[in-house]
Amino acid sequence: MPEKPARKSSKKLPAKKQRAPRKRKLDPDDPHFIPGINNYCDRWCERCEFSHRCFNFALNERYFGDDPAARDMTNQKFWDTLERIYADAKASLDQSLKKLSGTAEMPSIEAADAHEKHVDRRARAIGQKETKLALTYAHMVDEWFNNELRLPLEHVRDLERLVMAGEVTVANAKGDLVRLNDCVEIIRWYQHFIFVKLGRAFSSLVEEDENPSVAGAKDSDGTAKVTLISIERSLAAWNVMREMFPEKTDSMLELLVHLDRLRKGVDAKFPKARKFRRAGFDERG
Ligand code: SF4
Repeated sequence: MPEKPARKSSKKLPAKKQRAPRKRKLDPDDPHFIPGINNYCDRWCERCEFSHRCFNFALNERYFGDDPAARDMTNQKFWDTLERIYADAKASLDQSLKKLSGTAEMPSIEAADAHEKHVDRRARAIGQKETKLALTYAHMVDEWFNNELRLPLEHVRDLERLVMAGEVTVANAKGDLVRLNDCVEIIRWYQHFIFVKLGRAFSSLVEEDENPSVAGAKDSDGTAKVTLISIERSLAAWNVMREMFPEKTDSMLELLVHLDRLRKGVDAKFPKARKFRRAGFDERG
C-alpha cells in the first residue's frame, strides 16, 4: 500500500518579522548637498526650493520624519526626538573638543565668555540705530495685527457677499484669500528674523574687524544680505496688503516708512552685502 503523503499542517506559521530597512547614514560631504547653503538662508524650509540639497533639512527630516507626533510639543515623541538630537550634538561636540584639547587654540570658558560679551558690546554700539529700528519694527507688527484683527475676518465676509451677489467669481475670491494669507505669513515669518539676523551681522562685523587676517567672503555681508532680502520681502507683502485694504493705508504707510529706513541703514552699514554670493541661492543659471 502506497504511503500516504504527509498532511500539511493547518496551523499557520508565524509571519516573518519585517525588519525596517536600515537608513543610510547621512553624510554632510555627500556632493548632493550644497555645502553651507543653510548659512545664509531664511530658515523657511517649507518654502525653500533647495530643501532637497540641504544637509540640515535632511537631518531634521531624519530626526522628525513625517510623523506629526514627533513635531508636536505636547507629545512625548517630540521630547524623545529632542533628547536624541541633544545626545548626538553632545557626542559630536565632545569629539571636536577632544581634537582641540591640548592645542593652543582652545580658549578657556571664561575667556570665551569674556570675548563674547566684548563682541556683543561692540556690535550693539556700532549697530545701535539699525538694531533698534529692527526691534521696534517687530513690536509695530504685533501692534498692527492686534489692532486690525477684525480686518481679515471682515475681508472674508465681504468676499463671501460679493461672490453670492455674483460680483466676484469664486476663483477670484480664492485668489484674493491666498494672497492675503501669503502676505500675513511673510510678514510674520520675517518679523523677528530681521532683528536676529541683523544682530549676527553686526557681531560678525566686529569679529572680522578684530581679525583682519581672515580673508574671503565675509559672514557679516552674507548675513546682512539675508536681512536685506527679508526686509524687501516684508516691504512687498505690506504693499500688497495696502492695495487690499486701502482704508488702512495710513497705518501701513507708517510701517513701510519705518522698514524702508531700516533697509537704507543696513545698506549703508554693509555696502558690500548685496554682492555677496550665497551658496545655492545665488548660483542659479
Ligand atoms: S537652505 Fe532651505 S532647507 Fe536648508 S535650512 Fe535653509 S531654508 Fe531650510
